[in-house]
Amino acid sequence: MTDTLVIGAGLAGLTAARALQRAGRHVRVLDAAEHPGGRLHTHTDDGFTYDAGFQVLFTAYPAVRRHLNLHALDLIALPPGAELRRGAHAEVLGDPIRDRAALTRTVLARSVPLADKLRVAHLAADLRRGPAHALLRGPDERTDAFLRARGFSDRALDAFFRPFFGGIFLNRELTTSARLFRYYFRMLMDGQAAIPRRGMREIPRQLARGLHVMCRVQVHSLHPHAGGVTVLTNAGDLEARNVIVAADPPEIARLTRERVHLGSVPATYLYYAAPDAPTAQPRLILNTAPGLINNAHWTSHALPGRAPGGQHLLTVTVLGHPDLHDDALDAGVREELRGWYGPGVHAWRTLRVERLAHAQYPQPPEYAATLPGHGTALPGVLIASEVTSMSSIQGAMESGEKAAAILLNDAAGMSRPRGA
Ligand SMILES: Cc1cc2nc3c(=O)[nH]c(=O)nc-3n(C[C@H](O)[C@H](O)[C@H](O)COP(=O)(O)OP(=O)(O)OC[C@H]3O[C@@H](n4cnc5c(N)ncnc54)[C@H](O)[C@@H]3O)c2cc1C
Repeated sequence: MTDTLVIGAGLAGLTAARALQRAGRHVRVLDAAEHPGGRLHTHTDDGFTYDAGFQVLFTAYPAVRRHLNLHALDLIALPPGAELRRGAHAEVLGDPIRDRAALTRTVLARSVPLADKLRVAHLAADLRRGPAHALLRGPDERTDAFLRARGFSDRALDAFFRPFFGGIFLNRELTTSARLFRYYFRMLMDGQAAIPRRGMREIPRQLARGLHVMCRVQVHSLHPHAGGVTVLTNAGDLEARNVIVAADPPEIARLTRERVHLGSVPATYLYYAAPDAPTAQPRLILNTAPGLINNAHWTSHALPGRAPGGQHLLTVTVLGHPDLHDDALDAGVREELRGWYGPGVHAWRTLRVERLAHAQYPQPPEYAATLPGHGTALPGVLIASEVTSMSSIQGAMESGEKAAAILLNDAAGMSRPRGA
């Protein structure tokens, strides 16, 4: 009999399985999808390689450092800072410490007042103190309220914080917990925001190496009994002493009947093939004006090889607007891009409109007090998922570690604080 069946080959499930296998346990991982990785997936389409949604890996995440060989991922760091765009007008807001070449442009950038640039420097100094995980504790409030209390102007919020951190939280209103804002800000200072050259799928691929992962196996239900748990799947019944449910939160709720589903934050991504690129900008582009586009990225400028010869790849993030039909969304985004780059946009090809219904879960102030634990009412069944910590790569991986630590009775692993 298998010691542990892990349901879900996302980052949480794969991390749990690796920790258990390393400790000598016999583990199998099941996933309903065609490939492991869950929300970290990369499409290859007509010579283009693009991730399912715009995601980046913060190399400072502690769980990432414990479990991934970053060198083998062949990471490309995104240039620090961003291009702030309002229609045809664009300026660069760089990181004055890491990006000396952009220093003058950054000081002169008018979208963000000088006083706010100095406030960013003070904030950075404050958030550098102490261990990063301590930033997930302490007083909590909405991120926009926290920034206003630090004196930031509406112009700074609209031109930088909303599109930049809105793109991370998938919430431009910045109603997300300020604790998370402070933690991610620190992660950006302590490491790089990077993407594997060949796609985000390289991360789960690395974790899955050496594991017994069975794809296209959909788990229907779990039935604990005296000797373990029977798992009913489309590929037949399986037996295990323990089960770790590492599915997405709505599916964890269905399989375990625990109240783990905290809601879903959707996001939509559009990918364009451009025969002529109107810019060589490899930085993240933030839309500082109201509109459909939150941010955009010339993926093939930052990550050579993502587009076939003579072509370029643009990834656009849209937050909200669930009622717009794909064609209307595409037309609206193209209209905004025409305002940025001119009439040449009409020659671009839309590769895909991708709607992700559960990209993250909502994380309002004090959300951590409502997080579920790893245990369930079903004997022998544990949970590993972002939903026990934070909706991020760190959150998923640390949850997998912790579920494994519980089964291994590893006191140090069980008591590691969130975010550490
Ligand atoms: C667009 C987007 C942008 C993001 N940006 C970032 C970012 O920049 N930085 C960051 O740190 N995080 C980011 N995240 C969040 C991060 O990707 C997730 O928090 C993390 O991948 C969740 O991992 P997980 O293992 O908990 O769940 P999942 O990745 O959802 O894995 C669950 C797995 O379970 C499988 N499954 C579900 N039900 C069943 C069943 N019944 N039987 C068998 N298998 C099942 C699914 O197929 C899936 O493979 C982003 C997410 C998205 C979607």
